[in-house]
Amino acid sequence: MSQYFNRKYFTVDDGKIWHLQYAHPVLCLILSDMALYCINNNKVLRATSVIRPHGDGISKSKTHQTARAFDVSIKGWDIFFINNFIDYFGEKYSEYAAVNYSGAKALIVHHDSGFGPHLHVQINSKYKSSIKYETLGAQ
Ligand SMILES: [Zn+2]
Repeated sequence: MSQYFNRKYFTVDDGKIWHLQYAHPVLCLILSDMALYCINNNKVLRATSVIRPHGDGISKSKTHQTARAFDVSIKGWDIFFINNFIDYFGEKYSEYAAVNYSGAKALIVHHDSGFGPHLHVQINSKYKSSIKYETLGAQ
C-alpha cells in the first residue's frame, strides 16, 4: 500500500492543475481516463497546458481559452503507443469531440504548434467555459 503514497497520477506543467476546476467535468474525465491508461502502460500523463489566453501566438483555435482543451506531452512515447492512444480515446469519447474548421469531429490532434509535437485534446464547444484567463484565480 505504501508504494501508492505520494504517487502522482498525472502532472500539469507550471502547477496549473487548478485550471481544471474551470473545465467541464467531461474534460476532467477524459484526462483522468488518459492518466489511468498511461499508468497501465508504465507512463505518467503530462499535461503541458490547460487554459491559455487568447492571442498567445500559439493557439489557432479558441479551445484553450474556453477551458475545453489540454495538451499532452508525447516525449518518450513511441509512435505505436501514440497511434493506439489516439485511436482508443478518439473512438471512446467521439461523442464529446470538438468539431474542427472543416466540420469534422476530432478529439485529439497530433501536431506541433511551435513547441514540439504534442497531442491537443479538445472537447465540443457546448462544454466551453466563459472564464477569462486574465481573471483566473480571482473567481
Ligand atoms: Zn492545444
